[in-house]
Amino acid sequence: MQETPEHMELRRTVANIVENDINPFVDEWEEAEAIPLHDLLKKMGQAGILGISKPTEFGGMALDYSYEIVFAEEMGKVKAQGVSTAVGVQTNMSTPALAQYGSDELRQEFLAPAIAGEMIGCIGVTEEGSGSDVSSVRSFARKDGADYVISGNKMFITNSIQADWMCMLCNTDEDNGPHRNKTLIMVPLNDPAVSRSQLKKLGLHCSDTGHLHFDEVRVPQRYRIGEEGMGFKYQMEQFQEERMFSVARTCTALEMALEETIEYTRQRIAFGRPVLDNQVMHYKMADIQSQIEAARALLYRAVDIYTAGGEVTKLASMAKYLVGVMASEVPSQLLQFWGGQGFMAENRISRVYRDMKLVAIGGGANEVMQQIICKEMGILPRRS
Ligand SMILES: Cc1cc2nc3c(=O)[nH]c(=O)nc-3n(C[C@H](O)[C@H](O)[C@H](O)COP(=O)(O)OP(=O)(O)OC[C@H]3O[C@@H](n4cnc5c(N)ncnc54)[C@H](O)[C@@H]3O)c2cc1C
Repeated sequence: MQETPEHMELRRTVANIVENDINPFVDEWEEAEAIPLHDLLKKMGQAGILGISKPTEFGGMALDYSYEIVFAEEMGKVKAQGVSTAVGVQTNMSTPALAQYGSDELRQEFLAPAIAGEMIGCIGVTEEGSGSDVSSVRSFARKDGADYVISGNKMFITNSIQADWMCMLCNTDEDNGPHRNKTLIMVPLNDPAVSRSQLKKLGLHCSDTGHLHFDEVRVPQRYRIGEEGMGFKYQMEQFQEERMFSVARTCTALEMALEETIEYTRQRIAFGRPVLDNQVMHYKMADIQSQIEAARALLYRAVDIYTAGGEVTKLASMAKYLVGVMASEVPSQLLQFWGGQGFMAENRISRVYRDMKLVAIGGGANEVMQQIICKEMGILPRRS
């Protein structure tokens, strides 16, 4: 990934929004357990950064995916990962399949307002009984005339309390096997047959995460993304963009936490000298910085291949796996160096520690990434 003047310009635009429109408010949003997402996304939409790689006909910039990575890296500087998660769902998790496979009519109705920041989207894959094994999803969309009638549930869905629509993975067929019976369908959520309840979480306090029930929700069949039965495949492809976004912003967020820890331990005195002045600290800092750079190098390799039209399942999964491990271990190691201060709720490192745990679970747990890597290595059979 070569950084051009255009990448730098985008970086400055995003950094400006993070600095002025997000970071001054994140403590308040964390406390309120809510982000004013419609207002924030509107502002970001007006700045033109919600559709960086999306087609220009629907308000996007049609830039290659390396620009989305620059966007994700700058979003990693948000001082509460709940915000970058919420925005990432809009830009890189709920919209890639819609942008690639949706009809023009569907993209006009749902993608254009998402890029403009006028509608909030969410992605509905996980269910009460189905998480890591996406093929076991149970929500069902049966055909009735020109409509689908959808029943089922979706669990742990980011943005879903405020969202206007869900890109929902449903079964549309009793037969055909679990990888060929699924379809992605755009489902407006302001329907009385949809009920939503907010969940309380360990971290990402400002981001809303919901449990939703769909009780015979009727949508026209033209709300289907692409072909019926291709939903599993589209979702697996969509996951690649989600995972690269997650890696990019996590690398930046870990680097920021590292820098803050260096700063704190440089001025904190114990035994008559800065805490940083212990060799054990130097080696740990070098170790963490090296891990971040290694994950970033792997990500950039994946992005180069992806922007050239190549397949990146193996590399994106490896990068997601590596940052998943780092995001579980590094915040704990850094918090240790803050001593009792690190344990205080108002201290940002404690938020980093809570927020980062999700990286090893969401969008495919670490073990699922390892499973995918093994399939790509030929150790495990691929799905039929
Ligand atoms: C805050 C938050 C936000 C989320 N946002 C969304 C969202 O917007 N949309 C959405 O669809 N989902 C979302 N999720 C769901 C998330 O993607 C799932 O939690 C994740 O995929 C894991 O599924 P699960 O929780 O059902 O865990 P399970 O499938 O029950 O797995 C539990 C654990 O078992 C282990 N495991 C699972 N399979 C294997 C295996 N094959 N080999 C070895 N070990 C294994 C892993 O350690 C895993 O963590 C969110 C979750 C959280 C917590």
